[in-house]
Amino acid sequence: MEASSCRRFPAPAAIPKGVEPGDWESFAWQMQNRVRSLEDLKAWIEPTSEEAQAVGDLERRFRFVITPYYASLMDPRDPECPIRRQVVPSPLEAQDSAGLADPLDEVLHSPVKNVIRVYPDRIAFCVNNECALYCRFCLRKRMVGETGWSMQKRELEVALEWIADNPEIRDVLLTGGDPLVFSDERLDWLLTRLRAIPHVEVIRLGTRLPVTLPYRVTEALCRILERHHPIWVNTHFNHPREITEPATEACLRLVRAGIPVGNQSVLMRGINDDPGIMKELCEQLVRIRVRPYYCYQAQLLEGTGHFRVPIERGIEIFESMRGRTSGFAIPRYVLDTPHGKVPLERSSILGREGDAVLVQAWNGKTWREPNPPD
Ligand SMILES: *Cc1c(COP(=O)(O)O)cnc(C)c1O
Ligand code: SF4
Repeated sequence: MEASSCRRFPAPAAIPKGVEPGDWESFAWQMQNRVRSLEDLKAWIEPTSEEAQAVGDLERRFRFVITPYYASLMDPRDPECPIRRQVVPSPLEAQDSAGLADPLDEVLHSPVKNVIRVYPDRIAFCVNNECALYCRFCLRKRMVGETGWSMQKRELEVALEWIADNPEIRDVLLTGGDPLVFSDERLDWLLTRLRAIPHVEVIRLGTRLPVTLPYRVTEALCRILERHHPIWVNTHFNHPREITEPATEACLRLVRAGIPVGNQSVLMRGINDDPGIMKELCEQLVRIRVRPYYCYQAQLLEGTGHFRVPIERGIEIFESMRGRTSGFAIPRYVLDTPHGKVPLERSSILGREGDAVLVQAWNGKTWREPNPPD
């Protein structure tokens, strides 16, 4: 089960001929030179005829964009490559009729445009709809990547006013899209505005850029973020092969700036639905000081049926890690619902025996714990 090919950081992919290292490692260059067409894709992989067809057919349904950095991690010859499957369209997307456009009813839970509220004290604030690349399994497919839609400053102001008017909001999660697609100046402006609201205690950023465009995490960015502490970051690695040297450097920079970095992954068939791969991912994350936080059950989302894994299997995968690796390397396996996140786990309480509670340990052993009366 141990995938030996991903035990160590993969060697950095060769920078393509004619590209200066300074360009390759620049956020702007990576954004400007993204893979957007079948022709561009052919510079990196040999697409199968199904992939080639899907790129054309699905173009109008969900944007096809990949950063050169992430494209360089794809296996050119293996269509089952876990990097490739996350970003290259599959004809299976068009065959999934069960999924919904908005399985979490996020549109209903929006008190003001771009704010999603399912908890009393915290919100998700979608600050833009742009990402460095577009993941085929994305939950926000309905809103990310529409060209021409750019959230105006005015709309951000309206959401900021709503937060300022709701003193019970103490934790604001900036998401999108991806907040790190913003320029340093715009991000600084937004964080300054949020920090001016006295009841906002914690600001979190949900960003996939440490994984998909790690050169975005510059020292300059970290200097800005650390001016607005407490800042927490959650990123999104799904497979150990994504933990490259540049991605490691990006996470360590954030950590050095005093930012706790967590990871939220999605459990996906053929990508990480394997106890060995998942354990490998989580242990490598901990090694680069990223704490596995959540692993999501893939949603009933249009065009993503081929990624979904039965919940029982997910429970088994995370149960198999308990006792066999550091407790903090095990993320909580959750299902996101319109009512919030629900942990998916078997109860370890077997029952009662008189005044005692019977529990089951990771190795299957039972323990009888005397329980004080209420
Ligand atoms: C996930 C989420 C949060 C944060 O939840 P935590 O369990 O505190 O990480 C807040 N609001 C919304 C809408 C969310 O989806
Ligand atoms: S980075 Fe996140 S929001 Fe953007 S496409 Fe991927 S999953 Fe969706």
